[in-house]
Amino acid sequence: MDAPGPHSRLDAAPSKAALRLRCFPHPETKHHGPPVRPVFLPFAGCPHRCVFCGQDKQTGQASQSLEKLWNKLRQELASRLPFSPPCELAFFGGTFTALPAPWPERFLELAAPYKRDGRVVAIRCSTRPDQTDPDRLRRLRDLGLDLVELGIQSFDPAALRASERGYTPAQALEGCANVRDAGLKLGLQFMPGMPGSTGQTLEQDMALTAGLRPEGVRLYPCVVIAGTPLATRWHRREFRPWSLERTRQELALALGTLYRARIPIWRVGLHPEPDLLHHLLAGPWHPALGQMVRSLALFDHVRTKSLALGTGPKVLYYPRRWSGEIMGHGAELRPRWERAGIRLRAHGGSGFILRQRMPR
Ligand code: SF4
Repeated sequence: MDAPGPHSRLDAAPSKAALRLRCFPHPETKHHGPPVRPVFLPFAGCPHRCVFCGQDKQTGQASQSLEKLWNKLRQELASRLPFSPPCELAFFGGTFTALPAPWPERFLELAAPYKRDGRVVAIRCSTRPDQTDPDRLRRLRDLGLDLVELGIQSFDPAALRASERGYTPAQALEGCANVRDAGLKLGLQFMPGMPGSTGQTLEQDMALTAGLRPEGVRLYPCVVIAGTPLATRWHRREFRPWSLERTRQELALALGTLYRARIPIWRVGLHPEPDLLHHLLAGPWHPALGQMVRSLALFDHVRTKSLALGTGPKVLYYPRRWSGEIMGHGAELRPRWERAGIRLRAHGGSGFILRQRMPR
């Protein structure tokens, strides 16, 4: 098997042949942060239950009083954190910035000593874009909050209306600006395939996102969870979730946009919580969805480079550590590579090399 490294024969090829080579890195901008330690506060601070939301099932955590959640965190921080590697604390599952006063402050003050001694490297929370009061954000920043993930879901007015999100695209954008203006980092969460989405919604959302340049993005395709208003719509045949195949195709295109904008992708698809799986009625959920989407996005990326190189068969030399992503889940992409006329060769280096195979 050929194994070109950084200084291989291929790199030293004469200029005439160099026209038929493309060397490139993996297109994804990786996020190199400490492990994120989630603290789930299901539905805490939420002004209403959104039609698709089953936070208790998605996180495997039942709703509890804030007092109980605070005490649980206090014990956990004291008992586990001293023995764990430094982490980023993340308040997820509710609308953190809309918790009744003084709870956001109390949670942050609880984490403050661990942040001072470096065992908590950063603190983030998730919230709704219409709960981003600038004064409150600045106060929370002063208490140690570093990053806010906004559950935007979509910037599309029809999708926001059909999903009864309760805010407009302008408010969603204002929420992003408020986070930035408060000196906080910004993360965005989207729900491809939510009620009211059309074929262009995700593409337009990603184009807008590329311009906003958040620190990272999560993509949670819309699924139907038992007990939600969306489940009722689905039973009445008023809502049809995307198929797994459509989701894979659309999300691969979305990843392409995020790759080009150099925006890290923090998550694709919901975590496989046992509770979620028991309550999942319909929709594009798969344990390997992230890998399936990333594989297709990488295939699209290489194929674009291959087309730019000219017609005819090619060989792709790829870093062995990316074998899983190149082949796809269960080697499902192998036929696509064959149809594209691209032969695959793994190597021990770090970059990708696409070489035109010249006729003998
Ligand atoms: S989607 Fe967000 S705001 Fe809506 S109920 Fe769920 S956690 Fe609360």
